[in-house]
Amino acid sequence: MEKKKFEDLGLSPFTLKAVQVMGFEEASPIQSAAIPVLMTGCDVVGQSQTGSGKTAAFAIPAIERVDPKLAAPQVLILCPTRELAVQVAEETAKLAAFKKGVRELPIYGGQSYERQFRGLKQGAQIIIGTPGRVLDHLDKGTLRLDRIRTVILDEADRMLDMGFIEDIRTVLERMPEERQTVLFSATVPKPIADLIKTFTKEPAWVRIKSPEMTVPGIEQIWYEVDRRTKAEVLCRLIDMEDIRYAVIFCATKLMVDDLVEQLSARGYLADKLHGDMTQAMRERVMNRFRKRSIEFLVATDVAARGLDVKEIEVVFNYDLPNDGEDYVHRIGRTGRAGKGGKAVTFVAGRELYKLQNIIRFTRGNIRRGKVPTLEMVEARRADTFFATLRETLEKREFRRYDELTDRLLEQGYSPTDIISALFHLREGEAGRSSGEEIPIPTPSEGNLAARPKGGKAERKKAPFGRKAGKKDKPTRSTARNVSAAGPERTRSVILNVGRDKGIEAGAVLGVILGVSKVPKDSVGFIKMHDKEAHVEIAEGQAERVVQKLNGIRFQGHRISVRVAAK
Ligand code: AMP
Repeated sequence: MEKKKFEDLGLSPFTLKAVQVMGFEEASPIQSAAIPVLMTGCDVVGQSQTGSGKTAAFAIPAIERVDPKLAAPQVLILCPTRELAVQVAEETAKLAAFKKGVRELPIYGGQSYERQFRGLKQGAQIIIGTPGRVLDHLDKGTLRLDRIRTVILDEADRMLDMGFIEDIRTVLERMPEERQTVLFSATVPKPIADLIKTFTKEPAWVRIKSPEMTVPGIEQIWYEVDRRTKAEVLCRLIDMEDIRYAVIFCATKLMVDDLVEQLSARGYLADKLHGDMTQAMRERVMNRFRKRSIEFLVATDVAARGLDVKEIEVVFNYDLPNDGEDYVHRIGRTGRAGKGGKAVTFVAGRELYKLQNIIRFTRGNIRRGKVPTLEMVEARRADTFFATLRETLEKREFRRYDELTDRLLEQGYSPTDIISALFHLREGEAGRSSGEEIPIPTPSEGNLAARPKGGKAERKKAPFGRKAGKKDKPTRSTARNVSAAGPERTRSVILNVGRDKGIEAGAVLGVILGVSKVPKDSVGFIKMHDKEAHVEIAEGQAERVVQKLNGIRFQGHRISVRVAAK
């Protein structure tokens, strides 16, 4: 479905500013199709659903046509309910915010006439009302229609269902002959078709078939995150749920590259899919993902378009999609046979307003989640391990280590000591989140109402505060930083991964910094051997590196780390 830029719709600078402040990045399909036609002044019948952005589709051209110097009703919008009238009035007010002298007024039953008289007297140009109350004002002579240039019937089929058809006819009959008539209706039953025939002149039909916006059976959660700690939150969620097969969507190619690097550095099997890759490269990655040689596929929307993979456990919106339609396309990929899928969306700071739009567009049920703390992740991991251990014991399917155990018992260690030490050793193995506590933004529900301008995803900082990519390779300067401190102050740490496994020094540096979180100037020269990597580490940090890295998975290999003898 075609979407246009607002800049290409021939709108005034006032309206362009308003849509920008409202956070609309591009026109929705109904807006793209209807606005240019409505701007010509001809009659229009529009067919689209609520949530498609139809209010702005008819309100923008109406505002553009208002003469601010003329203090009389120029546009009349009829809505079936007071709630809708208020909503339309609010949206119209925001869209007209920068066009000086334009006033809008909702008039509906239940509100005092006094207030409405005042508004009408003050010369409101855009009147948004329910049919009954509009008729009342016409009968009282407090609403004059002689300067009306545009009349809009919003949700005409609903007004028919609610028994307003005769009121509408009466209002239309009292309209000036020279006017633009616009009718929006999801369906066109016979009485509405008759209305169109009687009251419009050669209307242009604009039909937008709304895509299936609902996504049944998908559990949807959003987390408020800080941009700087997004990767850590992602890893925690993955560890917490032990996710093994997911697609992660990023906004740009750069972000895709960056995240793949960070995930790989932490030992996850991740690869990327983006528009800069050749078709052959993309197919290779997709095949590896299908065969599950990759756990996490990090992709941009465009690159993932042809992705046809089933059984995805979770779709992560690491960066927010542009709109509701992209959101539905992305998350529609999750779902496993028999089980519903899961969609996790990260929202950073000012993007809250964008999420609000997505929720409205999809009429979705996205609940807010709380980022798990490190303790929660560890407790969950321990639970899973405990359950597996019990199952293994029950089935009695394990290799025996009687001799080793006896030796330890003979040396005076109790069975509880031995088992605790084993638990301690395995702790470092499974967890791939950093092990550092991170600042999680405090919930800011209030922000949902705020609509700051902008909204372009900010370029995420490269990991470790440096540029991503080739420059991650150890440089002479990092080597000098440490060496300068004197040879007696560094230790050589040896990892059991080398060139024969296709591992480069840059990746080793990445995993050390990413997992152990030691300061980057405490890592010195890295020498890659066939089967080992020798890394110079500042003396005070060597033990930490060993402790944090020992046993983790890194590019598909279990690593063991030791400090070389002096
Ligand atoms: P409607 O179909 O008019 O009820 O609009 C549904 C929601 O989508 C409202 O909250 C609008 O503010 C929002 N909306 C309308 N047009 C756009 C757009 N082009 N981009 C983002 N959100 C929009």
